[in-house]
Amino acid sequence: MLLRNKYAAAGLSLVAIIAASAFAHADDTQNFSSMQMEGVEQVTIDVDLDGAVERLSRAVQFPTISNQDRDDFDTAAFDDYHAFLVEAYPGVHETLKREILGDPRPYSLLYTWEGKNPDLPPALFYAHQDVVPVPDDSLDQWDQEPFSGVVADGYIWGRGVLDDKNQIHGILEAAEMKIKEGWQPERTLYFVFGQDEEVGGPEGARYIAEVLEKRGIERFAFVMDESAPLVPGLFPGLPDNTALIGIAQKGFVSLELAINGVGGHSSQPPEESNIGILAKAITRLEAAQFPYRIHPALRHQYRYLGPELDETLQPLYAAVAFGKEGEMTDLEKQFVEVMAGDPVTRAMMRTTIAVTMFNAGIKDNVLPPSATAVVNFRPMPGDTPDVIIEHVKKAIEDDRITIRDISASTPATAMADPTGPGYKALEKTIRQIWGNDLVVAPFFVIGGSDSKHFQARPFAPDVFTITGIQLENTKEFEGFHGVNERIRVDEYGKTIGFFYQMMDNLDDL
Ligand SMILES: [Zn+2]
Repeated sequence: MLLRNKYAAAGLSLVAIIAASAFAHADDTQNFSSMQMEGVEQVTIDVDLDGAVERLSRAVQFPTISNQDRDDFDTAAFDDYHAFLVEAYPGVHETLKREILGDPRPYSLLYTWEGKNPDLPPALFYAHQDVVPVPDDSLDQWDQEPFSGVVADGYIWGRGVLDDKNQIHGILEAAEMKIKEGWQPERTLYFVFGQDEEVGGPEGARYIAEVLEKRGIERFAFVMDESAPLVPGLFPGLPDNTALIGIAQKGFVSLELAINGVGGHSSQPPEESNIGILAKAITRLEAAQFPYRIHPALRHQYRYLGPELDETLQPLYAAVAFGKEGEMTDLEKQFVEVMAGDPVTRAMMRTTIAVTMFNAGIKDNVLPPSATAVVNFRPMPGDTPDVIIEHVKKAIEDDRITIRDISASTPATAMADPTGPGYKALEKTIRQIWGNDLVVAPFFVIGGSDSKHFQARPFAPDVFTITGIQLENTKEFEGFHGVNERIRVDEYGKTIGFFYQMMDNLDDL
């Protein structure tokens, strides 16, 4: 998931550059007041923390790993995990309908909790069961064995405890509590737990999104999925505790560029080799970058964060926040210029081109008969695979090279409405659980998680992504896909409380 360190670099360079050239356009910032919700009363939810911790600890012990090699899929780990869930959450499994889905391999879970009022649009909580592998050469850096689920020093340890099993179990613990209390949701709630988020979700999330769309759901009122947890200093230049809510995600397209020609002996080479031809094409492509655009999600991001950030920079943020589609003011141009200096913020402003693979040749005296390269694009809205392929063709101007879409490509998603009731209910819930001493803001996600498969479809624009857990500091982020993944025991109690309260608040949407 979202790696914060890169993000930090982005902000720092921004601060450094703009602070050096202080602006004084008071007019632009006149209406640039804080968007933070005020006066939300905190609630305390009593949870069976010991039992919940024991269940999450056991969950971590199932090695539900997503390897890049998809043949290396441990079906027993998933089957055993599913059986454990049935045993651990009896109320949920008596009350909700559970389906095991996925194509071609069915290991994703779809739970349906019928609402009292079937006319209300439903809501959906998403989380993923799979975890990234633990490389052997990193094992000695772990303070605890990664699949042990050890509870020690006030933490629950292990691969997946932060990304993303704490969310699955937070949701199930909350539902189990509610069922014991005899509670039933007003609107139908779906829980979807995917099997392959870490490899893009082609088997799980994508398939279930399709299934639900075919069942005739016209519109989800609210979808929630993982993204960044709450962390002090999460956003560069802002030391406060911060909750960022993803409201839109970029797309994903990988193209293979290939040349097939004659090979031959290296003693009598042609003027242009296959490797040379392809390399030239790649060089031309990298020189033909997509233009910068300011995505509406970026405008919202700076509308909410800008007033909380350093005052000297606010004219730029305000210009972006209040800017209009299809035109770029001078201040916006300055914003773009500054943001383009860093790979993370740059990626927020255009379809990116990343050359990720290049293959040709097997021997020093043999001219390879073919050469291939793979280029990964993260599209902005409107840059469909067709548009991208056209762009590539025009850039490389070489008919000898064939272009093929080799990805389970997804378009850039729709955007959730940060001024609507779903966002407000989420912000309110965050404040009920974690208090008012924190900044809550929408943001534009350049990576993406499984909910993109929902948010890219017309029936689920209002997808909000945030991981509902508090981390102590940005260092704890290193556990995401790294070593010593862990969460605090007491904070896990709040995660459960968060989902419990969110279920209540969804009744009032
Ligand atoms: Zn994740």
